[in-house]
Amino acid sequence: MDRAKRCVSDRISSVSNFSVLDKALDYYLKNHSSATTDTLPVPAKQTRCHKPYLYSKKSETGEEMVLCTLSALKNIICGIQEHSTECDMHLQVKDETTIGHVKKICLNCTKGHTVNVDTSPHIEGGQFLVNMKIIHAVNYH
Ligand SMILES: [Zn+2]
Repeated sequence: MDRAKRCVSDRISSVSNFSVLDKALDYYLKNHSSATTDTLPVPAKQTRCHKPYLYSKKSETGEEMVLCTLSALKNIICGIQEHSTECDMHLQVKDETTIGHVKKICLNCTKGHTVNVDTSPHIEGGQFLVNMKIIHAVNYH
């Protein structure tokens, strides 16, 4: 028995406290963490939808058109990017309203997030810049 105690004590003394704690912590995290590989969130499989060259078939040339300013386009991109930093689900058009030459679009995902975007910025008084420019072009040129 003494020999066994000596043997164990020799082995224990050859192991540093750091090593023991490191192994114990690894074991604990591996077996008790809620973030095991079984529970890690898995990004939803999503198909790519962006087309660098968007072709319009002859049958689709009657598609509705709206005007969009560059600042509005950048804002739309920002809204979509901000959503993608917090959520891995695709945004889809939930609702759209045409106001003159502007489109108000409500995007949402299956997790219930909503991103509202307009194709035009507003000017003082709340009017859409795009619509005011068109009215000005039609009436004063
Ligand atoms: Zn979302």
